[in-house]
Amino acid sequence: MSIRFEGTLTRTDERITRTFPFDVPEGTTDLNVRLRYDPAHTEGASLPQQISMTVYGPNGWVSEINRAGDRFEEGTDIGPNPSPGTFPTRIEPGRWTIFLSTYRVVDTIVQFEIEVTFRNGASNITLPEAPAAAEPRSRGAGWYRGDLHAHTVHSDGAWGNRELVDYMQRHGLDFCTLTDHNTVTGLPEHLSLAHDGMVTLGGSEVSTYRGHMLALGVHERIEWRNEDGTTIAVSSLADAIHDVGGLSIICHPRKPGDPWCCGCRWEHLDMMPGNAKGVEIWNGVWSDRNGEGIALWQSWLDEGHRLVATSGTDHHGRSEHFEAARQARAAVNVVYAQEFRADAILDALKRGHSYVSAGPILQLHGTQEASSSQVHMGDQVEDDGVVIIEAAWNDLPEGASAHLVIDGQREVLGNEERGEHRRDIDATSFRWLTLEAWDDAGAWAISNPIYGRR
Ligand SMILES: [Zn+2]
Ligand SMILES: [Zn+2]
Repeated sequence: MSIRFEGTLTRTDERITRTFPFDVPEGTTDLNVRLRYDPAHTEGASLPQQISMTVYGPNGWVSEINRAGDRFEEGTDIGPNPSPGTFPTRIEPGRWTIFLSTYRVVDTIVQFEIEVTFRNGASNITLPEAPAAAEPRSRGAGWYRGDLHAHTVHSDGAWGNRELVDYMQRHGLDFCTLTDHNTVTGLPEHLSLAHDGMVTLGGSEVSTYRGHMLALGVHERIEWRNEDGTTIAVSSLADAIHDVGGLSIICHPRKPGDPWCCGCRWEHLDMMPGNAKGVEIWNGVWSDRNGEGIALWQSWLDEGHRLVATSGTDHHGRSEHFEAARQARAAVNVVYAQEFRADAILDALKRGHSYVSAGPILQLHGTQEASSSQVHMGDQVEDDGVVIIEAAWNDLPEGASAHLVIDGQREVLGNEERGEHRRDIDATSFRWLTLEAWDDAGAWAISNPIYGRR
């Protein structure tokens, strides 16, 4: 038995969620939800339509079907043996709803059809158990390198968790993070793949029509729409992330938006940066978009906001990111964590005890003259009076130079492969300062700020 919804979409439906309620009869064990639309890809247009679906049962969210039309030709299975993007589940009879989310319509008119098929299988279903999270052997406090943003087949990635974790391991990373679009169904497996050489962190990339936000450390799905399909204020989403101990990070704020990547550019004007706690200043391999992201972050620091700067490969399993990027610059997060554990890495990130780097090693700390106490990247200077800033760098590529940036004023410290610098600064004379490495083509490394008392 099946039911069908049909309709048309035009440009005016972009960034609109339509809702389709239906009733699931008693005895149903499996559903298949299939979206078809025509044309899927306009002749001559460089971009396909971009349409996703979300499925809710009587007890709430059930399934996320990213780019439904082009990824699941045979439809998505929901039940004990589901397609990626859905947890194994028993089908509850009653009122269900499908959200059809239109991120992009390239044609004037697109005909669509949603078909829901009900199946009656065996009545005594046992659901597979979720794998248990693994924890690596402790290595104690130290600097750890890793990625904070990647996707798998559970959203629109091309690879599974095992391939993602192996890839990051092969490239020398100590931690990697799964952040699928609007779903957390890959997390149990991802968290189970941690081992002595690799910490796995989890979250999701809350992907709205006007921007993407990482919910790092949040293992539950964050809903960004109301029941009628209207959108929830993104500041409330950030509150929800913080309430459960997560870190909210505005992703790739200056990525091109409509029509190239609908929803990718940060266009939440009520959230610039609002209550966000971090910003991904370096997404993918280096591009001028990242340069614009760094400028935006620093303009927010000038206004007195405090945001942790992070990087993310945003790897979807389709390219050899680190190999291709040897010239193009792929950054990792270098984090000083108290333990080699996911919670300690998240805690260090929240404090900004980290920098992003495509190679160079940065050190930056200050000694407050009055109390002799130390401040590191991400820390606030507590005392008025002099703070002795010590900066050092290593592995600087040829042609690059190290910069001390104080409230946006950039000063070159040196261009040798390694070097160090020391100076006394009045704590009340500055708001923020960073250590950075740049050459003519762009950044090589950016530290989180030490915050002054101006
Ligand atoms: Zn994104
Ligand atoms: Zn992403």
